[in-house]
Amino acid sequence: MMDIDQYLVKVAAFVADKKTPVVDLIAVQTKDPFKVLVATILSARTKDETTATASARLFEKAKTPAELDRLGQEEIAALIKPVGFFHSKAKYLKELPLALDRFKGQIPAEIDDLVTLPGVGRKTANLVRTVAFGLPAICVDTHVHRIMNIWGYVATKTPLETEMALRKQLPPRHWQTVNSLLVAFGQSLCKPVAPHCDQCPLANCPRIGVHPRKSQDLTTTRKTMGNSLNTLKFVSWNVNGIRAVEKKGFFEIVKSFDADIFAVQETKAQADQLSPELKNIAGYQSFWHSAERKGYSGVGIYSKERPISVREGIGVSEFDSEGRVLTLEFADFYFSSIYFPNSAEELKRLDFKIRFNEELRKFALNLAEKKSVVLCGDFNVAHKAIDLTYPERNRKFAGYTPQECAWMDRFLADGFVDTFRIFNQEAGQYTWWSFRSGARGKNIGWRIDYFCVDGKSRVRVLAAAIHPEIIGSDHCPVSLEFRVSNK
Ligand code: SF4
Repeated sequence: MMDIDQYLVKVAAFVADKKTPVVDLIAVQTKDPFKVLVATILSARTKDETTATASARLFEKAKTPAELDRLGQEEIAALIKPVGFFHSKAKYLKELPLALDRFKGQIPAEIDDLVTLPGVGRKTANLVRTVAFGLPAICVDTHVHRIMNIWGYVATKTPLETEMALRKQLPPRHWQTVNSLLVAFGQSLCKPVAPHCDQCPLANCPRIGVHPRKSQDLTTTRKTMGNSLNTLKFVSWNVNGIRAVEKKGFFEIVKSFDADIFAVQETKAQADQLSPELKNIAGYQSFWHSAERKGYSGVGIYSKERPISVREGIGVSEFDSEGRVLTLEFADFYFSSIYFPNSAEELKRLDFKIRFNEELRKFALNLAEKKSVVLCGDFNVAHKAIDLTYPERNRKFAGYTPQECAWMDRFLADGFVDTFRIFNQEAGQYTWWSFRSGARGKNIGWRIDYFCVDGKSRVRVLAAAIHPEIIGSDHCPVSLEFRVSNK
């Protein structure tokens, strides 16, 4: 077992000159549990800088629960925008003063009381207890959960399991500081995407579960070795509106992946509606295929290398008018970004979808006769029961009907490979979560975004991964490491 004291001392030294997490900062500056609680609610799924400015705007109008009570929900929403899920958070904050009446208008310090407040889950409650009150609690967020598992200090599946495991084994002297240390460490070095292991002070870290992110290590290595590993990195993301995600850190995300090809789906924009910044990301050329209907469907591809040819659609007008497939041809492979139709409510578009799927299958088989084929995107189907949280109750619903799954069977029987499942056979690996009922936080989701390659190109697949930590859309990105040539 690794020495936790030694690890945390090294982490503390490493992050000493890094940014203090915003909630700690507010606690130090204000010593006010109300402000710490509000800032913690705002900080969920939001960058620290955004939380800091939104908190400042809100606190100018509402320094106390009584002042907050005087603001309308819409007014609160306008003040805290653009923090993630600002509509829901505005609703919680509007309800907060009334909920605090039970505690005489004061923020309670006990976890069991804190979790009764609107928008306050266990993570928030633990953070408020430690940061605002200096009382013992372990706040387990995604960084603590992830890094403790990478270190092998715990072997858990959820942040709650991690919290319970840490309560048993983490020496109490670390309880209050572990969150801010690992948040700073997770944001600066042990990142969810591309951890900088080569610069890490923890030389003997077992790097458990970092294997899917081997892709990033390869990319880094490729740079320093002049691409002698001959690896290409591909990323695919259903952005659910590229103009919306532009305001949610899209450029930083593209930069952090440093992919050779970054494909997007459900762009919901015509090419002439895109900002110059979206069309001209440094180092990339961009290509687009949009739907005739404005604000609907649409796919795009950013590529570092200029393709030999670009093909919009699959040659069937009823599908091509919806902007669903864009294919770039390179020397020894084709790359397609695809947004499969949704079967829709009451399966109104199931027939349409299956016809599209069949045409797409023929299109891909045809390409595969010439060279390697990489197909990525939102397939809008969870293939097996393992690919969604509630298979039984969704059997008759879009995305998991027997017809859609049978098509996926046929597609794979043609030799196409679901690359993620080469490396990972675990349940709970999802790429899409409903915006409703906090599904993402509870990991109630579906795996419907894929990287597939033709059978002969399976030998070129080096790694495949899902990146659930990347927010901004109801989908998360998926990635593939691909050998440059099969020779
Ligand atoms: S060696 Fe890599 S995985 Fe381990 S803590 Fe350091 S950055 Fe994280």
